[in-house]
Amino acid sequence: MLIDDLKAIQELHGYLPEKELRELSAKTRTPLYEIQGVASFYPHFHLEPPLPVRVEVCADLACHLHGAGALRDRFQSDIPAVDRGKVHVNTVSCIGRCDRPCAISVNDHIYDNVQSPEVIALVRSALEGENLAGTPPEMTPGPWELDPYRNGDKYQALRKLLTDQPWGETIQGIEAAIEMLKRAGLRGMGGAGFPAGLKWEIVRKAEGSPKYVVCYADESEPGTFKDRVILESLPHLLVEGMIMAGLTIESEEGIIYLRHEYDHVLPALERELNEAREAGLLGADILGTGHTFDITTFISPGGYICGEETALLEALEGKRAEPRNKPPYPGNVGLWGKPTLINNVETFAHAPAICLNGAEWFIEQGEGESAGLKFFALSGDVNRPGVYEVPMGISASRLIEQYGDGVSEGRKLKAIMPGGASSGFLPASMVDIALDFKPLEQVGSILGSGAVVAIAEGRDMLDLAFNAMRFFRNESCGKCVPCRTGTEKIVDILQGALAGKGREEAKSLIEELSAAMMETSICGLGQAAPNPILSVIRHFPEEVLARIEGQAS
Ligand code: SF4
Repeated sequence: MLIDDLKAIQELHGYLPEKELRELSAKTRTPLYEIQGVASFYPHFHLEPPLPVRVEVCADLACHLHGAGALRDRFQSDIPAVDRGKVHVNTVSCIGRCDRPCAISVNDHIYDNVQSPEVIALVRSALEGENLAGTPPEMTPGPWELDPYRNGDKYQALRKLLTDQPWGETIQGIEAAIEMLKRAGLRGMGGAGFPAGLKWEIVRKAEGSPKYVVCYADESEPGTFKDRVILESLPHLLVEGMIMAGLTIESEEGIIYLRHEYDHVLPALERELNEAREAGLLGADILGTGHTFDITTFISPGGYICGEETALLEALEGKRAEPRNKPPYPGNVGLWGKPTLINNVETFAHAPAICLNGAEWFIEQGEGESAGLKFFALSGDVNRPGVYEVPMGISASRLIEQYGDGVSEGRKLKAIMPGGASSGFLPASMVDIALDFKPLEQVGSILGSGAVVAIAEGRDMLDLAFNAMRFFRNESCGKCVPCRTGTEKIVDILQGALAGKGREEAKSLIEELSAAMMETSICGLGQAAPNPILSVIRHFPEEVLARIEGQAS
């Protein structure tokens, strides 16, 4: 595995020396240009020796709202002159701590809720060679409705599946899981919302072997941190859901693709996997049934684009994480060209409770027309940011008021971002909208990654649209021209407008670029990237249009 080899070299040297890459090329008979292509793609790898201290300040929405830009500037000016040549300060895309802004990374150790003096102390510690540990995220207290084992033995759904017990009146055996997920109407919770039961069925029926189960645990969109909390609090549900999926599609190998910013969950996850192995639920001959399935973890070398399912597969194959053209879809042609089931953490974690408590139970958990439970990450201008397990279809207003304890500092709500950066912004007049796939699609938005960001009165919507567009510009993999160039050009236009240099033709230019990106980009990043600015032009025209078009007095 090329990426594992590169990680090992960097672990030893602190970066990837040219000499080592040449030796790797000779040893693995991989052309050097291919190795350099992979090494230069991922933000985790350094091709030059880094300075002794690297401070990266998260610049995305939640941290931006809490003054990340000012923190970075203050911190830069606070570094003693004698240390400046040894410290590299940069910004970084969202690192998944939107519940405790501002977040920074110091030599790859993450700290949240930081102020400038703390950063200076951390830099001093790093310069003196002290070990840095980062701050573990605050654990979110349960209990969780989704966990059927709050008072009992874990893995009961799996045992039931394996012992062929009847599930309800008509269904029995391994295929019961597919039927239960279909009846429950569970949709993928990673963003695309593809029906989970149907996806499992497609891979079960797909020709070819071996088959793979891949868990996408690499959520990276600004405002998104719900899977982190599930990984921290309910790892057994993820493991059980993956085993159920593996047995259902007749796979023997599962992989958890974990973002490296979440590697703090690794010890507990490994413990859970080992406990399952010791209980005979994972590995060869599971519970004496002859089924084999095991799970390994793969730490991502970084990049939001790895959340695109085919880009993730490319990364697992040791290549640049550039999305593939679709079709074929991974269900038929996935990892190493074989049928592959890819779901995110939350989707797998729903499977045990649905199979144990029944599809009807799951459906009843929803609110109004909606079915099921949903984990939302709530951040931005709220008093109590965090991850909340709520009925699907809850209104954004109730989520913010009841769970988030209202808009911070007693301010009024101005806007929400209902589903991560790619969902764009909605005005406060729409805050009673049900948070579910269909209602949000009907108003031109998406449920996306289940990340609700509250925006208070007084915020500059043009600045926030610029912030979100810059994220997509930074994270575009560059494979296709409309996305690579379109995001860059829109960012330039917005930056100009914010600097008081709007242009008469800017609005039509943005719309033209957006149409080209939406129609011709090959993956969801380029297709959804224009949403922040288009939604702001649509819902806040009085505030932004004159500035974009250079007519503001
Ligand atoms: Fe890469 Fe953007 Fe094209 Fe997706 S749309 S493949 S992120 S360049």
